[in-house]
Amino acid sequence: MASQVLFSSMAYARYEAGQTLPAKFERILKASDLGEKVKGKKVAIKMHIGDGVTYSTIPPVFVRTLVKFVQDNGGECFITDHYVYRRHPERRGYTADNLGCPVLDDCGYFGKYYYTKEVDFKSFRHVDVAGLIHDADFLIDFSHVKGHGACGYGGACKNISMGCVTDRTRHEIHGLEGGLLWDENKCVHCNKCIEACNHFANHFGKDGKYHVNYHNCTMCQHCAKVCPTKAITLDSHDYADFQQGMALCTKTVLDLFGPENVYFINMLISITALCDCWGLTTPSLVPDIGITASSDIVAIERASLDMIKVEDLIPQGVPKGHKMGETGHLFQRLHGKDPYLQIKMLEDMGLGSQDYEIREIK
Ligand code: SF4
Ligand code: SF4
Repeated sequence: MASQVLFSSMAYARYEAGQTLPAKFERILKASDLGEKVKGKKVAIKMHIGDGVTYSTIPPVFVRTLVKFVQDNGGECFITDHYVYRRHPERRGYTADNLGCPVLDDCGYFGKYYYTKEVDFKSFRHVDVAGLIHDADFLIDFSHVKGHGACGYGGACKNISMGCVTDRTRHEIHGLEGGLLWDENKCVHCNKCIEACNHFANHFGKDGKYHVNYHNCTMCQHCAKVCPTKAITLDSHDYADFQQGMALCTKTVLDLFGPENVYFINMLISITALCDCWGLTTPSLVPDIGITASSDIVAIERASLDMIKVEDLIPQGVPKGHKMGETGHLFQRLHGKDPYLQIKMLEDMGLGSQDYEIREIK
């Protein structure tokens, strides 16, 4: 049987508050079985709080709506992400006053609160599950959908696998892609790679060469992406392994809860080229689409990806001069990686079904 995905569209028929997305979000929540599920439980609402001058993360009005819904249905909730204290969530309106619940670092203030689960996939060995995620009874995976340089697409799977774990796990997953190579002959020493690194992981040594401290490096590729001369590259392009690592990490986290204690909500608005961790917002790639919600992570990811269509591309969303690929999903044309791969891997791991049916909530 096909998995159900609730969907509310941005499209509207009349100039009425009830036709706007926050009002539709309330109706999605009421139409779902989430209210019964969270009753009496400690609920972690995992979202990406963004960084720097990002303004395309999930607007507080939606977060507040979800928090109130959980509380009204007898759940006790908190908003969580990693590096919360460094990323100034208050600059994007994410405060306890605004949202009605605490905004907490999932691995604790110093990033040292976690529980390790061992996995065995190539060099990927440790899923360090964030302590506050581990301690919760119920997980709401509340994701802003966008592109992602390392895997093409960032949605529900990415929100868990890169956000509910420690730096060590992020590094091990990114490490599946390979290391960084620096071509001295191409480098013009503009320093953009150093400025782009949020992890203080790279520097030019006294020898004038590019050095990476792989302990700090999360293999986010920000340095490679900003390099104007393509002097920094990965030494392997096995993105399938990266996606397999993300899927395995997601499964490890979700197995802690079981299918009855997780719920997924994808916000398909401000769909930009890159992840919110970049600390910037670029123009949208496509017009805003709406909201999807489901208890099946595979179905919601598949449905969300299917709604982002290359024929809807707004050229302004792509950097000037960037040459897009000619085949595949919009995110594949933009980042060179098939975004459906991670969905298939999640399905192969038994986390849900790509066979979905949309139930529209108007
Ligand atoms: S961004 Fe590229 S060209 Fe500029 S300093 Fe770094 S490696 Fe060299
Ligand atoms: S890959 Fe990311 S963390 Fe590593 S050196 Fe480059 S910008 Fe820094």
